[in-house]
Amino acid sequence: MTTSMNVLTIDVEEYFHVSAFERILSAERWPEYESRVEQTTRRLLERFSDAGAKATFFVLGWVAERHPGLIRSIREQGHEVASHGYAHQVLTVLTPSQFRADIRRAKYILEDIIGEPVLGYRAPSFTIMEETVWALRILVEEGYLYDSSIFPVWHDRYGLHGANPYCHRLTTAAGPIWEIPPSTLPVHNMRLPVAGGGYFRLWPYRLLRRWLKAIESAGHPLVVYLHPWEIDPGQPRLKAPALSRYRHYLNLHKTEARLTQLLQDFRFGSVCEVVAPILKLSRERVA
Ligand SMILES: [Zn+2]
Repeated sequence: MTTSMNVLTIDVEEYFHVSAFERILSAERWPEYESRVEQTTRRLLERFSDAGAKATFFVLGWVAERHPGLIRSIREQGHEVASHGYAHQVLTVLTPSQFRADIRRAKYILEDIIGEPVLGYRAPSFTIMEETVWALRILVEEGYLYDSSIFPVWHDRYGLHGANPYCHRLTTAAGPIWEIPPSTLPVHNMRLPVAGGGYFRLWPYRLLRRWLKAIESAGHPLVVYLHPWEIDPGQPRLKAPALSRYRHYLNLHKTEARLTQLLQDFRFGSVCEVVAPILKLSRERVA
C-alpha cells in the first residue's frame, strides 16, 4: 500500500450509449432498452465505500435527467460529479455550436441536481483529437475548469498522439484549463493505454499492477477510468461488429473482482482532490 493519491473516474452511462454501438442503435431508440445504470453505479459506490476510495463521476446529462436520485447519492457520498455531456455524440460529428449546446445542457442539469458548480468534462470516447481541439476553448467559455478527454495514443476512433501524457495546464484563446489524460505507459516511442475500459479488462492483473506501480512511482498520479456497464456481465447483448463486441464484452465477469483488488493496491480520490491547483483557476478567471 502506497500513500500517493491517484485519480479514479467513472463515466456514468448505459451499456447502450457506447460509441461503438452508435451505428446499430440510434439515440431515438435508447428509451426502448432496459436501464441498468442505477443498479450498476450503486454497486460501484458500495465498492468505493468498502475501500474508502473517492472518485469523479462524469455523468451523461441524459442519464442524470432520468436518475437524479442516483446523482445526489454520488455527491452525498463525497464523490465529485462532473459532466460527460448530454447526448453522447462523439465530437467529430458536432459543430462547435452543437458542442456548446450539449455541454451547456449537461452542466445545467447536473448543477440543478447537486446544487453546486460542475467543474470537469470528459468527451464521449475521448474525442478531443487534433481535429476537435477547438472544443477546449468552448469548455473554458462555458465555465469548465478541467477536461479529461485527450488520450495521448494511436487508436482507430480517438487519440492525440504526442500529447502531454500527464496532468497539466493548457492555454486556450479563452483562458487556461487543466487537462487530465488517462494514464498510459511509455513503450519505445509509443504510449500504451493501460488504465481503463477494455485495456483494464484485457491485461492479466499482476502485469497491469506492475505497470501502474511504475507510473505511480515515477511521480505521476494514475488516472483510471471505468464504466458502470463494465461490472455487469448480465447486460443484454447487442448485435454489433465483431471488434466492437470483443472490446465491449471482454472479461466483464472479472471486472468487479479486479476493481476490488485495484482499490486495495492503490489509493484513489477525485480529480479535484488529487489535482488541487484546478480549484485556483476559478479565482484566476474572476480576477
Ligand atoms: Zn461515454
